[in-house]
Amino acid sequence: ISQKDEYCVLILGLDNAGKTTYLEAAKTKLTKNYKGIHPSKVTTTVGLNIGKIDIGSVQLNFWDLGGQSELQSLWDKYYEESHAIIYIVDSSDRDRIDESKDIFDKMIANENLQGVPLLVLANKQDLPDCMGVREVKPIFNKNAHLIGKRDCMVMPVSALTGEGVDEGIRWLVDCIK
Ligand code: GDP
Repeated sequence: ISQKDEYCVLILGLDNAGKTTYLEAAKTKLTKNYKGIHPSKVTTTVGLNIGKIDIGSVQLNFWDLGGQSELQSLWDKYYEESHAIIYIVDSSDRDRIDESKDIFDKMIANENLQGVPLLVLANKQDLPDCMGVREVKPIFNKNAHLIGKRDCMVMPVSALTGEGVDEGIRWLVDCIK
């Protein structure tokens, strides 16, 4: 039996950004597209969703942490174990984009995340008046010195329709492999 390379991926972002929906979409999409690969059973607990997805020889263990402000203080307990971050942004919520960016900056300043690839997903692209990736990207790239040398990508996605989910996960797998 070949041993799979296991990687931990944290799914972070403000509450209501679409983290739970995204994890579900990722499981659905990747099962459909990667034939013969079945995601394992998923357990859901309050404030923490866990999902496993096998992609070829790689197993991704997703940790979807709650985004409510009282839960954000728990995020850094997981940083040390994580190989990649997926940061979900609600592109339809202009009122909270700065809040989301501030939390992002705080997160990437953590020393345990230095060198860890960052995938920023501009979610809810299916909504007509949402900010496009062209608008979201410069906001999240503003403090380039904080990002430093690690891989960082901003991509458009709709967790609801599944559009863009594959592309993001593929980018991430290429980064961490
Ligand atoms: P979480 O708090 O970050 O886990 O967010 P949820 O996954 O619970 O989603 C919050 C709300 O946004 C729910 O009503 C979702 O149906 C909705 N939502 C999530 N992703 C999308 C998306 O891509 N498009 C649209 N239109 N709604 C979304």
